[in-house]
Amino acid sequence: MIEDEITLQDKLEFFHLVFAEEFDSIFSADIICCEECVDEFIKYWPGVYINDQDFQTYSIQISSLYSMMRFSDFITEDEFNQFLSDLVCPRCNQKLRGIIYPYNMQFNEHPFALEVFQEITNISQTIDPEILSDAVYRARIFNNEIVYTAADFFAPPKEKVAEGRYNHAGKQVLYLSEEPETCFHELRSPQEGVMIANIRIKKPIKVLDLTMQSHESNIINLIRWSSLMSSPNEGEGWHKPHYVFTRFIADCAIAAGFHAIKYPSVRFDEGMNLALISYSEHINDFQVNEIFLFNDSNTKIEILKQRLMESLSS
Ligand SMILES: [Zn+2]
Repeated sequence: MIEDEITLQDKLEFFHLVFAEEFDSIFSADIICCEECVDEFIKYWPGVYINDQDFQTYSIQISSLYSMMRFSDFITEDEFNQFLSDLVCPRCNQKLRGIIYPYNMQFNEHPFALEVFQEITNISQTIDPEILSDAVYRARIFNNEIVYTAADFFAPPKEKVAEGRYNHAGKQVLYLSEEPETCFHELRSPQEGVMIANIRIKKPIKVLDLTMQSHESNIINLIRWSSLMSSPNEGEGWHKPHYVFTRFIADCAIAAGFHAIKYPSVRFDEGMNLALISYSEHINDFQVNEIFLFNDSNTKIEILKQRLMESLSS
């Protein structure tokens, strides 16, 4: 019997795998506090308390999450409550108990946020849309059961888009790299390799370049720095608040008329990424030139170049 083979340890691993995802789909919170740290959070972010009276009422008993999450087929409520004692607060790292406070930042009401927005708008006025002279690349983890076509490299449908570095949940952004190696490392160098599409964007686009060197403005330096933010325990903690500011940068960039954000890779030295934030506007402007397998056996581009159907290159 398969059921006999499922141990409590299996269930616990499943719980950790699914909890964060379930939590995000219910709350899409930028910041989460617990009873231990909520007072301190409010003290250091006075804007939260002044601008958002909902904060105090937006709290939830963690044990009540069981009924909101889709665990019931796999884990009993007793097991769920037992597993909860394993969780720590993503903000202060203390054991969670009782109540948590999921909170969405209201950046628009902060003077600092307005300053950032103004700076991005100023940069926008100095930059013209241009056709990118080089191809860009997008990768998927290789699966030998898939016959890859250009469509596999477009953004997932809106309902499947989770929050990302430069997008809110449900907002399509095409994450590209300037080099094949960079996409490979952005996907965490999977052993099975990655399938990569070489893509040209046929229309001129306006790029917010966060790799530019500037000492003129602290705000610009802060925006640049935000592109390098990555949580040290990325992939381990159950919540990733470190993308809050970069998503705000994306909102400002869209409002200021940018189509893409260029930012350095945190996973591959000297690698450059390009987030196409105007994806839906440019959906007919992609040309996929070739699709090829890339893996790291000797940091060389390997094997296969799959000729695409004639229709793709026309
Ligand atoms: Zn806490």
